[in-house]
Amino acid sequence: MTLALVLLLGAALISMAAPRMLGPLAATAVPPGILLAGWLGSLAGALFFGVSAVVTLAWPDHAPAEAAVEAVVQCLSVVFHAVQPWIIETLAVIGALALLAMTVRAVILGRRYAREQVRLLDYHRDVVSIVARSREDDVMWLAHPMPMAYSVAGRPGFVVATDGLSQCLSGSEREAVLAHERAHLRGSHHLIVTACDILAAVLPAVPLFAAAPSAVKTLVELTADQHAARATSTATVCSALTVVSASALPQPAGALGLSNETSLRLLKLRISGRTRCPKVSYATAAALSMAMPVATALVVLAATSAAVCLTPTLA
Ligand SMILES: [Zn+2]
Repeated sequence: MTLALVLLLGAALISMAAPRMLGPLAATAVPPGILLAGWLGSLAGALFFGVSAVVTLAWPDHAPAEAAVEAVVQCLSVVFHAVQPWIIETLAVIGALALLAMTVRAVILGRRYAREQVRLLDYHRDVVSIVARSREDDVMWLAHPMPMAYSVAGRPGFVVATDGLSQCLSGSEREAVLAHERAHLRGSHHLIVTACDILAAVLPAVPLFAAAPSAVKTLVELTADQHAARATSTATVCSALTVVSASALPQPAGALGLSNETSLRLLKLRISGRTRCPKVSYATAAALSMAMPVATALVVLAATSAAVCLTPTLA
């Protein structure tokens, strides 16, 4: 039960603290890819440790690593060992039922989202194929005077752009816009955003899951901007973004475009520009987001255990 409590406390800490800690960092010089890794690590951590807590509770006898954790929180473990087995069994059954209900809900919502997404994308692809003036590689060009571009996920995904891009932007600005959209396709950003939407629909009361869709949508835009800045230059992306965001053409549902959160994106481009981080830094950000709350939970329980040891009636 001690290990289950550490895991549950860790999952709760991630769920409560991650949005508060990661959210404000979007407007700082921290590279957006690192923040995105932090959000994804937190989401994975909350799910992993929450599920692990239930599995540990239902584990017959001592779960792996239980002995090591009990050694750290020895006095508290003595208290837990005094708990009647039927109480632990009841908690395990309640946890398992809650987990089953969440899994069923996630599967139902996931299938519904996937069906709707496929229907929407197929319809969109058909309509754009008919009305497109021409197709160059992965870009379908529409005869429209306003500058606009967006990417549509699929196998393969594609970019939709208007002739207004060529008319209102310079050649390098147009390349920046296309590099931004291709970064969405290469980074599987549509899939990441959809997964966050499903998690938020399954567990809307969990602060981390509720905050993730909006934060992650912003971060994928900032990440795609950085890719575009590396392909061209920061100044080119800023000027392209300013022109395209002023065109105010609506973007279809399920697409990722260039015209959202303009002021934040211009600020981020100015302060973090084309910063390229080593791949290991993304893995580190994700791992720290997962591990730090559980380590904190262990420290809190160790301190509580020490207090229990010092209590004369229990020592
Ligand atoms: Zn975009």
